Amino acid sequence: MLFRQFGSVLATIVVYYFALLVCYLITCAVVTRLNRHAVKIQSSRQTPISHIKRDFRQSVVSLAVIAGMLGAGDWSYTTLGWGLRPLPGVGGTVFSAVASLVLFDTWFYWFHRLIHTRFFYRRVHRWHHLTITPVVWSNNSDSLFDNLFLQSYWLVAHFLIPIAPAVLFAHKIYDQITGVVGHSGYEHGGRWCWPPSPLVGVTHHDQHHQFFRCNYATHFSWWDRIMGTLHPDHDRVLKANLSRSRGTQVL
Ligand SMILES: [Zn+2]
Ligand SMILES: [Zn+2]
Repeated sequence: MLFRQFGSVLATIVVYYFALLVCYLITCAVVTRLNRHAVKIQSSRQTPISHIKRDFRQSVVSLAVIAGMLGAGDWSYTTLGWGLRPLPGVGGTVFSAVASLVLFDTWFYWFHRLIHTRFFYRRVHRWHHLTITPVVWSNNSDSLFDNLFLQSYWLVAHFLIPIAPAVLFAHKIYDQITGVVGHSGYEHGGRWCWPPSPLVGVTHHDQHHQFFRCNYATHFSWWDRIMGTLHPDHDRVLKANLSRSRGTQVL
């Protein structure tokens, strides 16, 4: 019985791992191609090849850790019945998706600030910041403890909001794709992230890698604006990058 349950949770984790890995590889390939027509944010800096290789190798490991948390959360929800049941209908699905986006952004902002404190930074988060000019392959280049802080949301989300596993997974795929774009080093945003829109463009997280102590959120700029942690030049630089990028000349 125990052996069968272990096999069942392992199978769930393996399925999530391959889904995340395929998403990561395809998104990285597509965004690398799109970079040819976009504006490089840190135009005078290049990312060392050794960092790109390091980030790729670490991402393959990190995605397994994330899949472990996502898979264990899904398995305990569907098999053991742990967590809140989703609200019915399209309205319930939309509510759960929006709630998950807002809640994860809040989770990410505050834990991200925590691991930037003196005590945690070297022990937990320094690895991710060794790449100052990020590339698509940098998104999931994190230490084990970094993942436990920022990504454990996917393990406990069913206890926090009434969300179906498929909707939570759709949110994770959105997070993976926007995370890769956000580390691409090229501004790909359009009208949807033109300030004061709360959606972040690539400039937001790129500045986080350049300046370290600003722009901690992941989906929205709300928390950074409220808490005064948005880079003082963020809106001006984002508008300049958006205006220069091919896709935003309509603005
Ligand atoms: Zn950071
Ligand atoms: Zn980053």
